[in-house]
Amino acid sequence: MTAPVKKNDRLTVDIEDLTHDGAGVAKINGYPLFVQGALPDEQVEIHVLKTLKNYGFAKIINIEIPSPDRVDATCPVYDQCGGCQLQHLSYAGQLKWKEKMVRDVMKRIGKIDVPILPVKGMENPWNYRNKAQIPFGVNGEAPIAGFYKTKSHAIVDTERCLIQTPEADAILEGLKPQLWKLGIKPYNEETKQGMLRHVVVRKARATEEVMVVLVTKKRKFPQAEEAVALIRKLIPNVKSIMQNINGENTNVIFGNETINLWGQDTIEDHIGDVRFEISARSFYQVNPIQTEVLYKQALDYANLTGEETVIDAYCGIGTISLFMAKKAKFVMGVEIVPQAIEDAKRNAKLNGLDNTYFEAGPAEEVIPRWYKEGKTADVLMVDPPRKGCDEALLNTILEQRPKRVVYVSCNPSTLARDLRILEDGGYKTKEVQPVDMFPHTGHCEAVAWLELV
Ligand code: SAH
Repeated sequence: MTAPVKKNDRLTVDIEDLTHDGAGVAKINGYPLFVQGALPDEQVEIHVLKTLKNYGFAKIINIEIPSPDRVDATCPVYDQCGGCQLQHLSYAGQLKWKEKMVRDVMKRIGKIDVPILPVKGMENPWNYRNKAQIPFGVNGEAPIAGFYKTKSHAIVDTERCLIQTPEADAILEGLKPQLWKLGIKPYNEETKQGMLRHVVVRKARATEEVMVVLVTKKRKFPQAEEAVALIRKLIPNVKSIMQNINGENTNVIFGNETINLWGQDTIEDHIGDVRFEISARSFYQVNPIQTEVLYKQALDYANLTGEETVIDAYCGIGTISLFMAKKAKFVMGVEIVPQAIEDAKRNAKLNGLDNTYFEAGPAEEVIPRWYKEGKTADVLMVDPPRKGCDEALLNTILEQRPKRVVYVSCNPSTLARDLRILEDGGYKTKEVQPVDMFPHTGHCEAVAWLELV
């Protein structure tokens, strides 16, 4: 395809679609142009920035006909920050768009005709994130902290984040300006100098317990006592202050060593009536209100009577497994991160759920082995990462033929691809329920229910 437009062209286009990173899509004789910030149903005057063989990029010069769903972004740093992509679209508009996105991929990728229910959204879609990972840095002489720009490691300095907790804001507003007084230098990614890399703030919604983790370049931390005193003053409900040491030149936030500076090693949260102890590095869903909605939906689809054996593949710290274990005869969870499996076992004990078994390893190897050993399930639950289920796992499902599969997905495209494979192997997708776990971002979670036919 040759591009029908060239760099620096100015033209007026109709926006037809929206990508998950917040770009409007205009088509010129079938050639897609991505226009950052434009919304479907808008007519915009654009300036072409760059053209490649199969697609190009343009920026808005003027919105001639705005979408009825266009709103002013609430956050003052929305244009620079890479955290949110959809604040210029009303929340009702975001939910409509997420439903359409799921519908489109089911048709285009999955070639599946299935009822897709309206997205379950939040009543109040703000301050929902229970975990903030705040990068610290310096701008000239001033300490800065906030969030990264889109596809970049440049820090957008901010005092408040509208999707995070007030406790995270307390670190931005209270700790950042005190760093010089405490004698703590933020880490500078370019010079590799400085001490404080990230501050991670996690809040348990049910108990309101807070954990603060200071990620430092070195173990030696002479200002630790003063930092602890200040954090306790800024966040009265803090229950745990930890130090994690990351001396590597890497983008990964955490290093391997975590030490206790003050208080407990874990905080406790509840999802429904299941209790969880969460440690500094455990994976835990970031939107606790919607996690409950998601898990209830998954449980509904599993339709457990108390007689079923359930396999929970990609189980993390066993959150879904334990949620199911209250209603099932037996639950077996498998997860690739050994530490998460340790957490799952500990949390099973904490809840007195002895009808569970957890094993660390790749789901696509462990579940076929279980099958050979005669350990099978009536209901199979999968909750894979964005890339979807491993093919070997899908093949085992088709061989083993559990009567019901519940698929929790954070990526509608790979969900649609995998549902096609399961449908070809004898399953029927009965329903898909999208759940908005990440308001104002382009991410979309969905649960699919399949029955063997
Ligand atoms: N169900 C959990 C976690 C879902 S996230 C919850 O709701 O909290 C997906 C999980 O899959 C992660 O914990 C990741 O470590 C795990 N994972 C990734 N690849 C895997 C594989 N091949 N086998 C088993 N688990 C895997």
